[in-house]
Amino acid sequence: MVVKIGVIGLQGDVEEHVRALKSCLAEMGEHGEVVIIKHHGIVSSCDAIVIPGGESTTIGRLIEREGVADELREAAEAGKPIMGTCAGMILLAKDGDESVKRTGQLLLGLMDVRVKRNAFGRQRESFELPLKLSIFDEPFPGVFIRAPCITHAAAGVDVLARLGDDATGERIVAARQGNIMALAFHPELTTDRRIHHYFIAQINFRS
Ligand code: GLN
Repeated sequence: MVVKIGVIGLQGDVEEHVRALKSCLAEMGEHGEVVIIKHHGIVSSCDAIVIPGGESTTIGRLIEREGVADELREAAEAGKPIMGTCAGMILLAKDGDESVKRTGQLLLGLMDVRVKRNAFGRQRESFELPLKLSIFDEPFPGVFIRAPCITHAAAGVDVLARLGDDATGERIVAARQGNIMALAFHPELTTDRRIHHYFIAQINFRS
């Protein structure tokens, strides 16, 4: 059986994730397919799922309307790797500050974290910097676009990266809780494939 990875494709930077995942599978020599999920009924056949960046309120509304939100909760419960980037990070959270709550944002509640939208202010809407992640030796090119951050993570959440020297735990930009991983930035917009490799490696490959 081949591995099947789904990218939630109702809105956002979907194709970039599809391309990154396909090239990773090829590099790893794994047989696999990458599918775009637009409706109910596909998530359960996937071994891992990516929730891309985009507009978190829009993606939230659409996955609920299409019946994909509950399927994602079931996939998480089943232990399947799920990665959310940028807007996807917001969707994974259990809690949000005012910037999240006032829009009636759907939160899947898969990670014990509180998130904040557009956490880096207007002057720094988009930026790129070498980001130190605890899972890699070399910095990762972090592309931030109107990025959210995690302002609070419960015990049991592994913080993979923080921005700045804020020792209070604010501005966490990468975290993992078991099979769920949230990134404030866009690994699909670089040519560095280490994060997608790391994500795919969490799937238990079947022969
Ligand atoms: N600021 C956007 C939101 O809150 C996320 C931006 C992005 O995914 N690039 O939905």
